[in-house]
Amino acid sequence: MKHSITCKYKEVVQLKENKCPKCNGVEFAEGTDFMPIKSLDKKFSIGSNKIYTFCLNCGEVISTRIENPNKFRK
Ligand SMILES: [Zn+2]
Repeated sequence: MKHSITCKYKEVVQLKENKCPKCNGVEFAEGTDFMPIKSLDKKFSIGSNKIYTFCLNCGEVISTRIENPNKFRK
């Protein structure tokens, strides 16, 4: 199954130190695919979206983070 990252653009983020490893681009955007990560022990929890940071030039995903990591605290 091929699912593309839904471009729910927040803003173009300028990362000072980070450059795209593929094309040296410096413009990035954030988006999510709305496929939440869920805790292994809480099967019925809603989960938390993944946020991808990707290069606007070549599309390389340089960072994936979880929207609300605190949800996974025990
Ligand atoms: Zn790039």
